[in-house]
Amino acid sequence: MKALVNFFGIEMSAGPSFWTRMGIKTSFGIGIGTSAVLWSLGSFAQLAPNATPYEKIEAFVAQVAQTHPETTKTIVIGDSDSGRPIVGLKIGNGPLKNLVVATHHGNEYGSTEVAKAVAESLAAQPIEGQTIYVIPVLNIGGYNRGRREESANGRNWDPNRNYPGPCATEGPFTLKSTKALADFVDREGIVSSATLHTAYPAVLYPWGISSRDLTTAYDAIFIKLAELATAVSGYEFGNSTEVLYAADGTFEDYAYWKHGIWSLLYELGESMSPSQSQIAEMIRVNVPGIRETLVQSQPARAVDHSFTGRCDVFANSLDRHDE
Ligand SMILES: [Zn+2]
Repeated sequence: MKALVNFFGIEMSAGPSFWTRMGIKTSFGIGIGTSAVLWSLGSFAQLAPNATPYEKIEAFVAQVAQTHPETTKTIVIGDSDSGRPIVGLKIGNGPLKNLVVATHHGNEYGSTEVAKAVAESLAAQPIEGQTIYVIPVLNIGGYNRGRREESANGRNWDPNRNYPGPCATEGPFTLKSTKALADFVDREGIVSSATLHTAYPAVLYPWGISSRDLTTAYDAIFIKLAELATAVSGYEFGNSTEVLYAADGTFEDYAYWKHGIWSLLYELGESMSPSQSQIAEMIRVNVPGIRETLVQSQPARAVDHSFTGRCDVFANSLDRHDE
């Protein structure tokens, strides 16, 4: 509940000048001074005072596309159970298609802010030969309420346990958002993905499932990518089962298992309710690494990506559902 008070307490008590400051701060943090003016005078000026957190994300997405029309377009990946479509940005025009997604967990607003900074960085300076899709918030209902889970048909689901997986799942696809994202990566032929979460300073790669057989055919490549990702942050890296806990039904393992997508999960920072200065630091140490893993991303999906190990259902009971 701490995150809820912190996040919404700031917003509701601060008024319009808060957003002016936020715009300046965010833009300053990634070195794009002029966008602060557009931010405060443009999109946010059109927002109703009682705009929801997600309406502010929609305004942000529109503002980035307006500021960089030559590189950036808004996209809709599909519907969500909140009733609002899931929006994002398509940045660049290259043939290699990669993906950055934040906020599977609605309370992890620190991950949202890092995704926004990644989008601004890429829109200002796209990566040669690539089209990168950035989706700041997948779980719209949870983000509006400051809650981890997403609701559908009267039940709460953990979105990052909602994909099919080689050992188990808590879904699959009981949420429109997870189905929309799965259809999107299939339709667009996504090759590499970065998913953003809070909070534990680590970068994780497959397998993170309930098994003791956790090596992939490509651990050397995943380690190289994780070293690039953590070059500035100094975060720990490895698979989720060993670094955090086993988690079945995550996007990362699904994307690799189903398609051979090179998927990295970033557990950003050390707080589930980061302050503005902590968010600025998360942006400072992670945006360069996220960019570099994209710059040096693989040219095609992994080929040998099936899971051939044994599942260990006991390990699943160690899933804390808190990151
Ligand atoms: Zn999370």
